[in-house]
Amino acid sequence: TKISPFLFPGPVSSIDSLSIIHLKRDLQIPTILKEHDEDDEGYAEGKVVNTRFGSFPHTTLIGLSWGSQVRASKVDTGSRGRRVKGQEKKRKREESESVEPSKEPKLDNDEAAGDASTPATTKEESEAVAASSGFIHLLPPTPENWTSSLPHRTQVVYTPDYSYILHRIRARPGANIIEAGAGSGSFTHASARAVFSGYPNNGEANGSAPRKGKVWSFEFHEQRHEKLEKELQDHGLEGIVQVTHRDVCEDGFLVDGRSPGADAVFLDLPAPWLALPHLSRSRPTKEACLNVTADESIPFISPLNPSTPVHICTFSPCIEQVQRTISVMRHLGWVDIEMVELSQKRFEIRRERIGIDNGAQRGVQGTPATVEEAYARLVEVEGTFKAFHETGEKVGSSRRDKANPNNRDKIMESLTERKVYKEGRLVHRTEPEIKAHTSYLVFAILPREWSEEDERKAREKWEVKI
Ligand code: SAM
Repeated sequence: TKISPFLFPGPVSSIDSLSIIHLKRDLQIPTILKEHDEDDEGYAEGKVVNTRFGSFPHTTLIGLSWGSQVRASKVDTGSRGRRVKGQEKKRKREESESVEPSKEPKLDNDEAAGDASTPATTKEESEAVAASSGFIHLLPPTPENWTSSLPHRTQVVYTPDYSYILHRIRARPGANIIEAGAGSGSFTHASARAVFSGYPNNGEANGSAPRKGKVWSFEFHEQRHEKLEKELQDHGLEGIVQVTHRDVCEDGFLVDGRSPGADAVFLDLPAPWLALPHLSRSRPTKEACLNVTADESIPFISPLNPSTPVHICTFSPCIEQVQRTISVMRHLGWVDIEMVELSQKRFEIRRERIGIDNGAQRGVQGTPATVEEAYARLVEVEGTFKAFHETGEKVGSSRRDKANPNNRDKIMESLTERKVYKEGRLVHRTEPEIKAHTSYLVFAILPREWSEEDERKAREKWEVKI
């Protein structure tokens, strides 16, 4: 079986394996590297990845150490998306194979496009220069970079949310997790890594049989189900994730009539309360599950692990969904029910620059507007800086007097020419909105059932101990 690059990426990129072509922090292209030019639906087309930073033939990306920086091919691989055919294509492939990972790393693609050394005269020439001096970094796939680059078919659960959820539902190697609906598979990939128990059979060393963790995923939308199944095969995760095409509210969570033995459950559904009755230990009463009725002639088999408490999380954007979910949870015996809202903010932190407000700094609180104000502020900062480094003390405005008055004219002149600035206080601004789909998370635990047999075994253990 194929070993998933998400779990064991190895030291270098390889043929037929998923790689992440990283252009910028917020721009990554997942690509299965192919030696031959063939249609590769859902990924960057064929054998050349064309980007606004240039073209990258797959042959130049195979067998590279992860993290390598690769310069764009100098060859014109055709305008974006067009294939180069026949003899011309062969010649260009030979040329492009001489492209090597860059030896002079640069930090940002925009910076690289801006400093192209060859003078360009026409617009087309400048574009060509910018494209050929662009580069990418080649990264191994991880659930995190897959989440930020995957083809969106639905809203997805983002990394900060799934990290917290997986922690709270105690996802760990060997665990069985039920997930519905699978959607675009963002949560699926993260949970697959969490339950994976390692090669070779982890757990044998301590004498116990290895317990293989698995994600039991359900999706009722046919195309989404098909696409996810194909993706999981491409990613070598089909042994860890089993996706079933199913309406879980109607038909529950058994797979081929058998229980997944789930230790944990994650529901990202519009009506999670309709799925909850299927997640009981024994057949729930009709009253317990509001309007859900099950066919009572069919024997009830619980999809849960009978010998452990089961942890659940539901993910809902509206408080009304939360209320209905919690109400059904209470009826069905779930305990420790808690709702959490994750809210994310990005803080932009920088130092105040002291000079005259020349537009670039506008909006930073306290930026001086006149030369006189700027000078006073400079003297204050200078004094604070000196005192701190000479004595280790912070000083207030009294220190202003001690700044060297001989420099005044020079500084004033420089400020008038809008040259001088100094680093001032640390200031921060909060971005009001960042790209994250916030929802309410409901967590709860369903205790295990305690039978006479359990009690007998527990007593035996206890009696042996004392
Ligand atoms: N958690 C997913 C991710 O991280 O990519 C996104 C899930 S998406 C928001 C919700 C999915 O639930 C949709 O794909 C929808 O088709 C599926 N769905 C809704 N009701 C369902 C049901 N009763 N049974 C199975 N799947 C369902």
